[in-house]
Amino acid sequence: MPQTNDTLALLGNKGGPAIRPGSQMPVSMLLRMAGKTIVIDCGLGVTRGICDQGVALTKIDLIVITHLHSDHYLELGPLFHTAWTAGLNRTIPVIGPRGLDAYWRAFQDSMRFDIDLRIRDEGRCDFDSLAAISEIGETHDLGGITMTTMRNVHPPITDSFALRFDGPDSSVTLSGDTAYMPEMADFARGADLLVHEAMLRDGVEALCARMTNGDDRLRTHILRSHTDAEDVGRIARDAGVRQLALNHFVPDGDPDFTDRHWEAAVRKHWDGPLFLGRDGMKIGL
Ligand SMILES: [Zn+2]
Ligand SMILES: [Zn+2]
Repeated sequence: MPQTNDTLALLGNKGGPAIRPGSQMPVSMLLRMAGKTIVIDCGLGVTRGICDQGVALTKIDLIVITHLHSDHYLELGPLFHTAWTAGLNRTIPVIGPRGLDAYWRAFQDSMRFDIDLRIRDEGRCDFDSLAAISEIGETHDLGGITMTTMRNVHPPITDSFALRFDGPDSSVTLSGDTAYMPEMADFARGADLLVHEAMLRDGVEALCARMTNGDDRLRTHILRSHTDAEDVGRIARDAGVRQLALNHFVPDGDPDFTDRHWEAAVRKHWDGPLFLGRDGMKIGL
């Protein structure tokens, strides 16, 4: 039972950047904790997802990006641009890995014609200063909330992070994209909610068999940089979290792999509350 007003909404739950008929959207989350509105990751669909939660784009207090795979930040620029046209006129801090500032500058350049036009023709405020990008560190004081980070295991990317938010009334841990790491149990210790990425090995084989424009490197990449659903159950149990949610499903949208398969894998080790992430699902903390 939710014990606070704090919530985490899973806006997008698919692992990987491709979408197809029947699939969910890539990863983004909306954390509402201690009166703050925090967006974590900006995969495709994040802007629509925030609005569908009844939250105005102008109300975002902070954005955090876990790593620079496109399924986690492809829509960061479009989110800002859309918020700008929806009335945003103050700076939103963005915390992310090294290199994110280059994306932000290049996004502005790519939209320069439209941005300059709207400033001149519609009297819009300056756009470039709406985001204040800073590099992710070990701990961040967010004013009433402490964000702790842990470098996870997501080769070949090294700047990839798990996040933990501790507020006055609740705590949540997000695994980010990672291979199985037993240390995640310590990092998530006692959290009200652990959101962990998950993969089904048989589903990865099926997914790779269907690929028409890649080779065996995709299979190798997926298997060495993500976590079996069974191990996710193990981590939740060892961490003693109150609730567990799965996101970043690999595969996602494959009718051969249903809720039953995911649950069977996780339930080998975890018998507590379990949410299989669906786009728009809101979980009480
Ligand atoms: Zn990803
Ligand atoms: Zn990734």
